[in-house]
Amino acid sequence: MRILVTGGAGFIGSHLIDRLMEAGHEVLCLDNFYTGHKRNVLKWLDHPYFELIRHDITEPIRLEVDQIYHLACPASPVHYQYNPVKTIKTNVIGTLNMLGLAKRIKARFFLASTSEVYGDPEVHPQPEDYRGNVNCTGIRSCYDEGKRVAETLAFDYHRQNKVDIRVARIFNTYGPRMLENDGRVVSNFIVQALRGDPLTVYGDGSQTRSFCYVSDLVEGFIRLMNSDYIGPVNLGNPGEYTILELAQVIQNMINPDAELVFKPLPQDDPKQRQPDITRAKTYLDWEPTIPLKEGLKLTIEDFRERLS
Ligand code: NAD
Ligand code: UDP
Ligand code: UDP
Repeated sequence: MRILVTGGAGFIGSHLIDRLMEAGHEVLCLDNFYTGHKRNVLKWLDHPYFELIRHDITEPIRLEVDQIYHLACPASPVHYQYNPVKTIKTNVIGTLNMLGLAKRIKARFFLASTSEVYGDPEVHPQPEDYRGNVNCTGIRSCYDEGKRVAETLAFDYHRQNKVDIRVARIFNTYGPRMLENDGRVVSNFIVQALRGDPLTVYGDGSQTRSFCYVSDLVEGFIRLMNSDYIGPVNLGNPGEYTILELAQVIQNMINPDAELVFKPLPQDDPKQRQPDITRAKTYLDWEPTIPLKEGLKLTIEDFRERLS
């Protein structure tokens, strides 16, 4: 198959491309290199089945493919809040363009949505039918509301134009190739511990997250894309940790003498987050296989190599 991956030079996109290329598909990687990098797809640049397209999805584009994995959007709060209006344009105009493309060429369209559509959840763990608790005027809204509109667009193109959609709600995912300055918690703590800097815990560290290793997530993407179920489907690891616990695990794995410092909690930071993955188990026969410590070990090795 010919497959388009938007945001393909980013963290998750480049791991997805590795799997698609290894399976023998022809892959078009589209990216504007805002948070992605050519080095993430370097090993495929000379491959005859691989094409790298530098393009911003807020502009229309005409391509011919069978499937579209639509991932283009900065995912770390630091990066999506740097230019929030651009984040909204990417999620709304960018997703509209990719759905217009899918409609014209009759390609199956996969949306990388997010657990952020649940906002600061009052239902725990979060099932897909929970409608969420999102602040529409806060500093996270450009991303949360942007992704909510992206989901709405996908379902309306499905109902109105028969576009064949798949919608995944991704929970916190980590692994090799996250940027050193990504700003998300796993990469921050690892980079800080490796550099001998204090680990920055925001708030008192009692807020929770559930962390999924990237290879498990990519397996879920491929299963959903090739299943008959359109979603939305939660994809994430139900193993839930407080941020303080995460800091201590990483401290113990890298440098037990590393200091922890407490910094202010950012506005609207969700207090708890854990996926209910009943749907993914039922419809995709999918669940994560890599426990946190094993995934962290692989991620730490990658950062160690890059930082040295
Ligand atoms: P990332 O920042 O590494 O990747 C995003 C990619 O999109 C980058 O390569 C970036 O350059 C590209 N991009 C951004 N705006 C673009 C635009 N206007 N035009 C073209 N390309 C553009 O982030 P990631 O962690 O790999 O996330 C990938 C997708 O998964 C995102 O849609 C994100 O919202 C979603 N997601 C990720 C997580 C996670 O924990 N990693 C959780 C929930 C959802
Ligand atoms: N679009 C695109 N590539 C295509 C087809 C459409 O980028 O191959 C864009 C198009 O420019 C438009 C958007 O997708 O801005 C939505 O397209 P659609 O056909 O649904 O709407 P219309 O063009 O009729 O407004
Ligand atoms: N966080 C932290 N220290 C950091 C970065 C993040 O304590 O250096 C916290 C952050 O406040 C949040 C959690 O870790 O409660 C996850 O943050 P991240 O930015 O990774 O993802 P998101 O908030 O989007 O789930």
